[in-house]
Parts: sequence; structure tokens; C-alpha cells
Amino acid sequence: MLYPINEIFQTIQGEGVFTGLPAIFVRLQGCPVGCPWCDTRHTWVVDPARQVPISQVLDCSNESDGWSPMSGAQVLASFAELGYRAKHVVITGGEPCLYDLNELSETLHQAGYQLQIETSGTSEILTHPATWVTVSPKIGMAGGLTVLPSALARANEIKHPVAMMRHVEELDDLLSGAQLREDVVIALQPISQKPRATELAMAVCIERNWRLSIQTHKYLEID
Ligand code: SF4
Repeated sequence: MLYPINEIFQTIQGEGVFTGLPAIFVRLQGCPVGCPWCDTRHTWVVDPARQVPISQVLDCSNESDGWSPMSGAQVLASFAELGYRAKHVVITGGEPCLYDLNELSETLHQAGYQLQIETSGTSEILTHPATWVTVSPKIGMAGGLTVLPSALARANEIKHPVAMMRHVEELDDLLSGAQLREDVVIALQPISQKPRATELAMAVCIERNWRLSIQTHKYLEID
């Protein structure tokens, strides 16, 4: 199995349950969801004409729509090549669950890494049972996709972007009647660090005993 890799880089996980943890991010190319606030639009299209050498996706000095096909073993080997020391790996995108992640996740778990997937929940999640799955449900986006009940059922964490009360109500609708894990973490994440969104998210989290997810990497101005 070859995955279209957009970039591999090491940083601090900036949001969600693992905030503050050093992490290796593996970004896959391709996303049909169409969120208006997307800050990784360069990952949306897998253009055959933009296939680049692996060395280019390991050099993160430039944001690019270039991608390189890599196997799980090649992804793992790149961590050593780059001298990365983090033991937490985040598979992100784009929408990583466009692809069957079993081979990649099996390879990384076997090598001793803790694995997390960040997904919109609009594709079936195919990964190792030990993978931590963060679903950031994208409701009513331009791509016209729906969040799958199977994705909500697999989620260890549901991290919902909010800017206004309507977004909280959309989450309520989505979760009503959904099969969820008993220990699922539900978090609200203010969109674009807007003060009104942050105030709203804080108030709802306190009321519901949910968790607030702040995009700390945006405040720190890091990737
Ligand atoms: S799901 Fe993620 S990558 Fe895709 S459009 Fe939305 S924010 Fe962007």
C-alpha cells in the first residue's frame, strides 16, 4: 500500500487531548470535504502532475501541494532519517481516512509508536484497534459529505469546531442517537481563535462538562 504523503514534520501537538506532546505529523494529500476555514487547502487535490521525490515531502520549509507515494515502512524509515525523537505520531491531512490506514498504522504501532488519526469522520476509518481516533465532525460543508455513524462509534475523541451556537446545536443533532464509546472525550474548539467563539466554547464546556480544545500552535505561531 502506498500513501500520498504531503509532508512529515516534528512539532508539538497543539490541540485536543494530546496538547503539548511532542509529535511527528504525517500529512496525507487529498480531501473532498471543503471546509470554508480550511488552513490546509493545498492538500485537497491529489494531482498526478504534482508528484514529487520523497526528499521534498521531508523538507518542510515550504507549504506545497506536492506529494510522494510512500509505504508504511518508508514513512517509518523517514523518522530515523530525520532524527525525530517523538514517540507520538499524528496521521492527518487532508482527509487521511480516504485511505486504508491498516498497513501504515500496523507498521507504526509495531515499531512502538503511539498513533493518533485526525479525521472529519466522512470516510470509513480503517486502522489498527489501538489507534487513538480524533473525529472532528464536519457538518454541512461544501463537499456535501455526511459524518458516518461508524466514525462516531470508533472515535476516542470528538473535537468539534465552533464559532456560534448553531454549531453546538449541529453537534447535538449529530450525537443524538449516535452510538458512542462510553469513555469518548467530547471537546469544543473555537474556530480561528475568535474571542466570541472562545467565550461560547468555554461557557458550553463548563455547562456540559465537556473539554475545551484550544489551538495552542496558532497562538505560538508554529505548524
Ligand atoms: S476536513 Fe480538514 S483538510 Fe479537509 S477541508 Fe476540512 S479542514 Fe480542510
